[in-house]
Amino acid sequence: MAGRDPQQKVAATWTPAGTDVNYGEITRQLIGSLQKNEHFTLQTSSEVTEFKRNGDNSWHVTIEDVKNGKQHAIDAKYVFIGAGGGALKLLQKTGIPEADNYAGFPVGGSFLMTENPDVTRQHLEKVYGQASVGAPPMSVPHIDARFIDGKRVVLFGPFATFSTKFLKEGSFFDLLSTTTTSNVLPMTHVGLDNFDLVKYLISQVMLSDDDRFAALKEYYPEARKEDWKLIQAGQRVQIIKKDADKGGVLKLGTEVVVDQQRTISALLGASPGASTAAPITLNVIKKLFPEQFNSPEWQSKIRGIVPSFGQTLNGNTALTQQVWDDTATTLQLTKPPVITMPTAPVAAGQTG
Ligand SMILES: Cc1cc2nc3c(=O)[nH]c(=O)nc-3n(C[C@H](O)[C@H](O)[C@H](O)COP(=O)(O)OP(=O)(O)OC[C@H]3O[C@@H](n4cnc5c(N)ncnc54)[C@H](O)[C@@H]3O)c2cc1C
Repeated sequence: MAGRDPQQKVAATWTPAGTDVNYGEITRQLIGSLQKNEHFTLQTSSEVTEFKRNGDNSWHVTIEDVKNGKQHAIDAKYVFIGAGGGALKLLQKTGIPEADNYAGFPVGGSFLMTENPDVTRQHLEKVYGQASVGAPPMSVPHIDARFIDGKRVVLFGPFATFSTKFLKEGSFFDLLSTTTTSNVLPMTHVGLDNFDLVKYLISQVMLSDDDRFAALKEYYPEARKEDWKLIQAGQRVQIIKKDADKGGVLKLGTEVVVDQQRTISALLGASPGASTAAPITLNVIKKLFPEQFNSPEWQSKIRGIVPSFGQTLNGNTALTQQVWDDTATTLQLTKPPVITMPTAPVAAGQTG
């Protein structure tokens, strides 16, 4: 708010509850816990190169050690492909007919970042604005206080970038190598049907440093150019799915693909992991094991892990409060406030 015209009308919703989550750290802790189980093994520096279906519908998976090129194989009754931008290529390698329905559309993200303590000390919030016309939903501009490996930074973005790579460290041939005779037409239709998106992406790619800084100043009028640098954050692969009427549609969420025999599943889409990982995993389990999933035994186990499972939180104040309180206790956060519902609509322009 500092440096902003006091006459400017601002509408904002604010919550004191919430926290930054370091998913890398969560992953390390989960793996550390799983490694105590003698039946669990983790292979790093290993690239899955091939899939073959065995006669009993299980899978023969070939894996290459990226350090020395040596190959080995494992047989698995069930396979889950969670390889971020690499998932589409792996799904295509399985040869299941469902893979023919998909193509990938890479969109990268860059952020302006400052580490200047004079700035980071003043901004302890995560402030989200409104997306531009045509922007994918995960491109809502935000100015975010973050702790990266213990260091306090402020990020502003994202600005969409374009690259033909599907992973941050991927190959420039990723887009070409996943384009097949089955998915090339749906891709063309998406380009023709999503004019606002195409216009948005072109305008983002054309932004100069001055344009990006002007966008930052809308959020932080007192920003000084010398405090900020541009960083490349990562790569997302949006999914294009075949559609009987439209030829192809752009899917902005995630997509769980399961074969008819229910022995292999893959997770595709723009935001396959992190905050969305838990509900997606439940969805994968439900699709792969539908009968067991609905059994009283599995239901009671799932509800033991996720007590609010299957209930709608939106509009249910008591349940939302309970979930917030339980989460805060588990994560040892400050107790969240008691939720109160507004008795009268809040007037436009009123701040609070
Ligand atoms: C700019 C940006 C900001 C984001 N912000 C947020 C946020 O604030 N909150 C949030 O919840 N999410 C956010 N996300 C999304 C989140 O980062 C991703 O959804 C998540 O990292 C995906 O996790 P993943 O494990 O599925 O895939 P990835 O993290 O992409 O990991 C895939 C792994 O598979 C490996 N792999 C690929 N091919 C193979 C192969 N053939 N064999 C073996 N391994 C292979 C890759 O090397 C990689 O290690 C953001 C993403 C971006 C790009």
